Parts: sequence; C-alpha cells; structure tokens
Amino acid sequence: MVVGDDIALSVRVRFAPSPTGYLHVGGARTALFNYLFAKKTKGAFILRIEDTDRERSTVEAEKAIMEDLRWLGLHWDEGPYRQTERVDLYRKHAEELVQRGLAYPCYCTEAEIEEMREEMLSLGIAPKYSGRCRNLSESDRKKLESEGRVAAIRFKVPEGGEISFKDIVRGELKFRFSDIGDFVIMRSDGLPTYNFAVVIDDHHMNITHVIRADEHIANTPKQLLIYQAFGWDPPQFAHVSMILGPDRSKLSKRHGAVAISQYRKDGYLPSAMDNYLLLLGWSSPDDREIFSMDEMIELFSLDRLSRNPAIFDINKLRWMNGYYMRKLPLDEVYEQAIPFFLEKGFPMNADWLKKVVAVYREHTSTLREMVEEALPLISFSLPFDSSIEEELKFDHVTQVLKAFLEVFTPYKYKEVSASLAWELLKGVVDRVGLKRGKVLFPLRIALTGRKTGPELYHFIELIGVKEALERAQRVLDYLERR
Ligand code: GLU
Repeated sequence: MVVGDDIALSVRVRFAPSPTGYLHVGGARTALFNYLFAKKTKGAFILRIEDTDRERSTVEAEKAIMEDLRWLGLHWDEGPYRQTERVDLYRKHAEELVQRGLAYPCYCTEAEIEEMREEMLSLGIAPKYSGRCRNLSESDRKKLESEGRVAAIRFKVPEGGEISFKDIVRGELKFRFSDIGDFVIMRSDGLPTYNFAVVIDDHHMNITHVIRADEHIANTPKQLLIYQAFGWDPPQFAHVSMILGPDRSKLSKRHGAVAISQYRKDGYLPSAMDNYLLLLGWSSPDDREIFSMDEMIELFSLDRLSRNPAIFDINKLRWMNGYYMRKLPLDEVYEQAIPFFLEKGFPMNADWLKKVVAVYREHTSTLREMVEEALPLISFSLPFDSSIEEELKFDHVTQVLKAFLEVFTPYKYKEVSASLAWELLKGVVDRVGLKRGKVLFPLRIALTGRKTGPELYHFIELIGVKEALERAQRVLDYLERR
C-alpha cells in the first residue's frame, strides 16, 4: 500500500494454522480475508504452519490444510514456513530476554501450577501464575536444577499499568497488567509457546497486519508486551468475529459440516464456497452478495468487517452453490464435476458429459447431487423399486410404450435433438389420446426408473433414441410377462 508519495509500505499478511486438525469454516474464512487483503493491496500472503504442539500436530493435517487452501484458490506467495524449523530463532530471543532481566527460568512443574490454580480458584481469585520463580537467587536455581527440574522460561509482566491497542474491527481495547500473570514463552521441552513464536515470526516476517479469529484478542496484550520488550513496532490487528450457527450457538457439526474438505466431497464449488465465506463477517456497501474472486479482491476492505458474530447458514450456502452451478461457465462446472462422474462410473466422454452438466445443473444444488440425478443415464435395471413399479400398473401404460416405440423407431439410428425429441413426444401423446401428463409420466418412469428428473426430451437426447427404444421394449416385455 502506498502511503503518501515516498513511503512505500507493502502489506504482508499471514495465515498461520496449527496443523492439529482439518481446515474448518472459520479457518478458511480467516485465510480468505488475509488473501483478499494481500491481493487488494498488492502485498504478500504468507503461509506459516504453527506446529510447535508436537503431540497434536501431524504432517497429514498440514498437507490437508494446504490442499484445501489450494482448492479454495487461496494461493500463498511465501511459505509454508514451519515453526518447528525455526526453534533456534525463538530460543535465541528468549535467552536475550532472560539476559536483560525481562524473562526468567521457571522450575514449577505442571502439577504445582495446577495446585496453585486450584487454590486461587477456591479463594475466588482469577487464576494466574503466582510469580514463585520470579525472584529466585542463583543458588535457588542450582538447587532446583540439581533436583532434576528443567526450566521453562517465563515472561515478566510489568507490575502496575495497562496496555491498549486499536483493533481495526473492535476499536480501542485495554488490558490491565494485573490481570495477566507471568506467562511461559519457552516450555521446558525447549519449544516456544504460541504467544512467543507468533511475535518472533510476525516481526521477522515483517507482517504488517494480523487478521485472525477474535479468540486471540486475549492473547494480544501478551504479544504486545513481547513487542515492547524487544522495542519492535507491532503490526496492526484485525480480530474477526466468531461464526455461530443459526441458533446462535458456536458453530459445530450440528449446523452442517465444519470441515472444508467435507464441502468439497459433498460437491460444493470452490467459488461458491469463497463467496459464502466472504459474507461471514464482511458485507459490501450496497448489500450485494454475489462476487467473483476478482470482484472480491477489488471490493474487500478491512473497515467493512463486522464486529457482530457471523451466522453460518448451510441452506444459504446450498442456495449459493446452486446459483454458481448455473452461472459459472459450463466448462468450469464440468471440470469440477469430473471426479464425481468418475466415482459413479460415467464414461469419460467430455462432449457428452458437458451436455449432461448443461441439463442437470439446472435443477440441482451440488455437483454430487447433479451426478447422482444423472445416474439413470448410465444405469437401468428391472425390476424397479416397488414404489416406482406402482406407477406402471395402469392399463394405459403398455399402450403408451407401444406408441412410443412406433413413433421413435424410425429415428433409431439418427441423432435426435431435444427439440425434435419434444416434437416426437407430442406425437406419442396424440397417438395415445390421453392428457400429456398421463402419457409422459409413465414414459419417464419406464425410461429413467425415477419419478423426477429433467425434461424427458433432454433425457432422450442424452441417452439416444436407440437406448430409449431398448429400455421401452424391455419394460413392455417385462409388463407383458407379468
Ligand atoms: N496458530 C494460531 C491458530 O491457529 C494462529 C493465531 C494467529 O493468527 O495468531 O489459531
């Protein structure tokens, strides 16, 4: 972003997932906002893997997160950086703070800390570290070490006073030091804590804006203290509001899938997903809701992030996906649908499959649904389910099938367009002499084995007259044998 004429300060933002699980809706939204802000300002979008929780972090989760980001089109300009590969840097900085008397080794065990916590709780005090190791003498330290204790490093929180910052979304936020206990920056296993590593990295990676979930607001004063201790300028912060379900409780599986990969498997389109994620906390000045990626980049701004919780509504996402199914270029929907067609055993004939997409996308909401609806094109077996068979028991059905065979047989080896098929179907209706529905409905059942689907003339165009005739004949034989 260019400020004035001479100072060119380029925006650098990061998405910093912990690879302890899949990419969920909230994480993807954070990534999207960072990405959009970087693209809008011609800045850099950095991917940083915060994997210092060795027990819970996995390589699989890291891979899966990156795959989901790529699927969403959120390509990073730098990274992935991994915190476990930067431990020396954190250690060096922690040691510097100890040397300068701004941090100290702490020998308390987890059990002891837990005990102090419970004691404070029972006294009705908000628990924080008691400061027990703050003023140990060199000989106290030696003694504790000789007991085999390994030190963690704690940051010394100044005693009186407060710290404040101006959050881009929340405005001015203030925290009293007295509410913050001395906190661990390096654990006894030699790894940094989140609050420490995040500051060292954001500083060394020249991050200008931290856009992240508001659950980190309470961490921000600790991080600011670390910036202060090093004399570094902190980045600007934008804490984005929570995502709730329609019942206003924290978003969970009850409200629909929370894993982005699940939406992919369910046949959602990445462009619909991005568009929907954008609306979880950001709104356009004119209430418009549909945006291509380029439009999102053009219009996105941090000052339109809402401080109110966002409501995730799976029905709206479905609606939006259906909209994209119809509005995106046919080729794009076809490309996205290929894995679904493959999974169901469709022949990989691109021209034909594109026609299938053109017909079936009109009334389905997801790729999976579309391909599932199109199954009758490639599979036909008798007997049908009993509820379908029901529809074939009427006397006029054989008459309908015979009329169909008579009218269509001359076209057996011809390519019949949907419009010709429609003319021929009207001929069948005339020949039978019953109302249109009475003729076309049993025909639909006989040719597709289903009660619903696209217009029959589209279906006939797609399977071809030869196949349609064979199916009609099989049903006729089947009914006559009964
Ligand atoms: N690893 C943290 C998380 O996944 C990142 C928080 C931050 O962006 O500072 O919540």
